[in-house]
Amino acid sequence: MKSLSILGSTGSIGRSCLKVVEKFPDHFRVVGLAAGDNISLLTEQINRFRPSIVSVSKPASVEPLSRRLAHLYSGCRPKIVSGTEGLDEVATHPEAETLVSAIVGVAGLRPTYEAIRMRKTVALANKEILVVAGDLVLRAALENQVEILPIDSEHNAIHQCLRTGRREEVRRIILTASGGPFRCWPVEQLEEVTPELALQHPTWNMGHRVTIDSATLMNKGFEVLEAKWLFGMPVEQISVLIHPQSIVHSMVEFIDGSILAQLGVTDMRHPIQYALTYPERLETPLTALDLSQMPSLEFSQPDLAKFPCLELAFRAASRQGSLPCALNAADEIAVEAFLHGKIRFREISRIVRQVMDLLSNRDNMSSITAVLEFDRFVRKETRHIIARDYTH
Ligand code: NDP
Repeated sequence: MKSLSILGSTGSIGRSCLKVVEKFPDHFRVVGLAAGDNISLLTEQINRFRPSIVSVSKPASVEPLSRRLAHLYSGCRPKIVSGTEGLDEVATHPEAETLVSAIVGVAGLRPTYEAIRMRKTVALANKEILVVAGDLVLRAALENQVEILPIDSEHNAIHQCLRTGRREEVRRIILTASGGPFRCWPVEQLEEVTPELALQHPTWNMGHRVTIDSATLMNKGFEVLEAKWLFGMPVEQISVLIHPQSIVHSMVEFIDGSILAQLGVTDMRHPIQYALTYPERLETPLTALDLSQMPSLEFSQPDLAKFPCLELAFRAASRQGSLPCALNAADEIAVEAFLHGKIRFREISRIVRQVMDLLSNRDNMSSITAVLEFDRFVRKETRHIIARDYTH
């Protein structure tokens, strides 16, 4: 029986993770849950999974949650904590063996890092953690002999393919990308993209930030950085292919010319189950892929002129230092502004480029505190740039 703490339990990944747990009651026990503001869903989850500890983002939510729980059941209730300390407490709870890290954004960085220092296995969905602090996180994992198991479907696929060969036998990693909803749009038409259109992902159902990042291909850029750190690959050995059907989740090319691919349906419960049960494989009750029902599988090169965010991410990935952190923070603020109707779709990449050009690469990113300080600074600068140069 594996004991889990889940950060981001009310999100898209968190909910899918709990569905996996529900299917295997003899294999998993939920020790801790952490959510942001969705107190009603968190209440249902507590009632169903009976964790020992739960965290909410705002201290003001503790009392209402406590009252709801008192109403619901009289048995032993969980400890309720809040804020960043609350996240740390859930992530490092002594009973938890595995942390599912599925909060969106840098809020997940410190608790995940602390869990690694406490030698918890990490099932990682939150890619921003490796984008902004991959070096620090991987070093801590190595020092503490902690395994980081990717939930992100592409990296999960690569993890599976790599089980067949040695690291030195790998020629390159090939990340596949659906291309998002605007893959076939002419570049001029991208001026007309609204938040509603951008939120309609053709193959995956995900949270807002990752859906917009998929539409700009920034998400794929983040995945390049994620792959660089997770698999210790130089950026030159990581490439991206557009694959609109999202059936091939990613591939590894070996030095003898063999390419191994992992295929599956577009349901995050598959990679989550793999990450939670590794190194075992359990029989899944989920529908498997029926290749005879598949349309043809297409692959093409990404159009970097149409989707400049991917090129910006490759630029950040080829450097050490603070550039990836600037990339992520500027993108998060720009995506937020786009979702609030303050900027246009194509301005997301312009703003990120402007911020990256403005903030020269800094080397002093030697602690999580330094990373988070720089992240806050970039966010402030980006908000300032948007207010000054992009207010329509
Ligand atoms: P969602 O937006 O659906 O969920 C985010 C979760 O984080 C929610 O539970 C939210 O709580 C919680 N949260 C947000 N901010 C805080 C905070 N400050 N403190 C505590 N909790 C917080 O995101 P997704 O599930 O889609 O994505 C999560 C991560 O996984 C992202 O990094 C994404 O890139 C990655 N990922 C997602 C995939 C997907 O298919 N969805 C695929 C691969 C990776 P609440 O809702 O209660 O406010």
